[in-house]
Formats: sequence, C-alpha cells, structure tokens
Amino acid sequence: MKKNGRALFIFIILLCFYLPSYCWGFYAHQKINYFAVFLLPPEMMVLYKSNINFLSEHAVDPDKRRYAIKEEGPRHFIDIDHYGQYPYDSLPKKWNAAVEKFSIDSLNTYGIVPWHIEIMLGRLTAAFKEKNFSKIMKTSAELGHYIADSHVPLHTNSNHNGQYTNQKGIHGFWESRVPELLAEKQWDFMIGKATYIKNPGAYAWDRVLESARASDSVLNFEKELTKQFSADQKYSFEERNGKVIRQYSSAFTIAYNNKLDGMIERRMRLSIQSVASFWYTAWVNAGQPDLKELSKQKFNEADAKEFEKLNIEWNTGAGKMMGKEE
Ligand SMILES: [Zn+2]
Repeated sequence: MKKNGRALFIFIILLCFYLPSYCWGFYAHQKINYFAVFLLPPEMMVLYKSNINFLSEHAVDPDKRRYAIKEEGPRHFIDIDHYGQYPYDSLPKKWNAAVEKFSIDSLNTYGIVPWHIEIMLGRLTAAFKEKNFSKIMKTSAELGHYIADSHVPLHTNSNHNGQYTNQKGIHGFWESRVPELLAEKQWDFMIGKATYIKNPGAYAWDRVLESARASDSVLNFEKELTKQFSADQKYSFEERNGKVIRQYSSAFTIAYNNKLDGMIERRMRLSIQSVASFWYTAWVNAGQPDLKELSKQKFNEADAKEFEKLNIEWNTGAGKMMGKEE
C-alpha cells in the first residue's frame, strides 16, 4: 500500500512536468487543503486532522474529473472579462438572474466557479446534517479545490494561459512553478482561525473580483520581465525521466515573484483561510453536529471503488482534458 502511494506520488510529480498545468497545480491544491485543517476549531479538528491526508490528496479530484466529465470544466473558472469592465455589473451575481439574462449554456461557456462554490457549500452543510462521514470528507476536499481556484487571477480571465498575448505557459508558471520553487522554503502558512461567513455568495464574488483585478499585473509583469531576460536566461532545461524539458528558470521565477511583491503567497494564504472558513460555515449552518463519533469511521468499499475509477479515467484520459485547457 505504502509502495503504491509512493509510486502514485512520483507519477503525479512527473505529470506536473509533462502536462499543461492544473488549477493551482496539484502541489498547491494539496497544501491549501492540508493547511486549512489547522485553522479549524477543536470540535472539527477531531475529524479533519485524522483525515488530513485524505483531504490533501483528494484536493485534486475535481481536476482529475475534468478528463472524464464535460460538465466539470466550467466549475473551475469564470472568464469575467467577457462581461465588460470591472466590477462587471452587467453580470447578475445571483444564479437565477444570471441564467435569465445569459442562459445556462452561455454561463457554462464562460465559467461558473463562484456559483459552484455555493452549491458545494450547500452539499457540505447537508452532509453535516446527515452526519455522513464519506460525504463530509469528499465534499470538503472538493469544495476546497473550487475555492482555491477562485483565488487564482488567471482563473478569472479569458486570456487564461497568455494565449492571446504570446505568453503561453504563464498559467502554470504562476500557480505551479512559483509555489513549487518557493513555498516550502520561504512562505508562511501559519494563519489564524477559520471565521464564520455570513454571506458566502458575496464572499465568493469578492474573491473572484480580487482575482480579476490582479490578472492584469499577472500578465503585464511577466511581459515586462521577459524584456529584461534573454530566452536562455528566462528558461532552463532539465532532464526528467530521460526527457529534456524546458521550464522557467529559477532566476526568472524569483524575479517574477519579487515583481508581484508576494501576491502568490498572499493568494495562497487567503485560499487556506477561505477554505477553512467555508468548512467551518457549513458545520455551523448544520447546527454544529458532534463529529467525535465520525472520526473513527473509514471509507467503505464503494468509496474505494469510486476513487479507483476516477484515477483510471484520469490516467487513461490524461492529456485529453475536456473543455478549456489550462
Ligand atoms: Zn481546478
């Protein structure tokens, strides 16, 4: 079992280098769910801490599902620039009003992440009310994913991989390469406590609007910096698994992070805070059920089969992500 886990880990690391990037990258998504656990009150920690590895590992399930289900893609982003200028008042923030104005098909085309966060919060609240261990854990892990995605500036912009501005690769650069190089050694993830969110819909939109506002800097700073680096300074070549791959050099990565003045660390920290606060809010809204008993439960055979199926679909479908690639 341990050996399989290790093999999977290595496989994921290798995939990170070969495939187009994932939202926040597998690395950051897993860290975000992991650190969010430590912000919870003791009544929740009893369940979440004993399942911290599950919550971390399954933080990336929604990305894996993007290879199997076409409905999955729109849940991870919103191309809010499609709706005009900041603060995008032409787009109703309430789902029903937005559907009425733009139709479900159109909303799906340009992404639905803030609304999907609300749906997932409702599911988590229901799971707490049912005291359903498996649902609580699976929904928590996945809710964490969508919340984290909404904190990524390029998840709110149609130029999501710099494809319109000759900056292809910037998506993975911001959310994978920079955190993978710097998070472990330099960034601080000790954050206060989860807080109750009175208006989750408004909260999700605030994060999306912040992301949207930051996307100009994300794109422009990379462009400015590119002028100061020759191509062989901007990229480096590394051998991975017998293949030579090109990636952003350490010098370029560090210079970009400095130019953004800590933005990526701030967004990652806020993601952690938001994930914990949404988990906490669902639990409070469900009437703060006692979770002690649940902490002794394990996933059943049906759950194990479901996880295995997802991995098979993901592995066999790898490289054929449905909908928009990142
Ligand atoms: Zn995602």
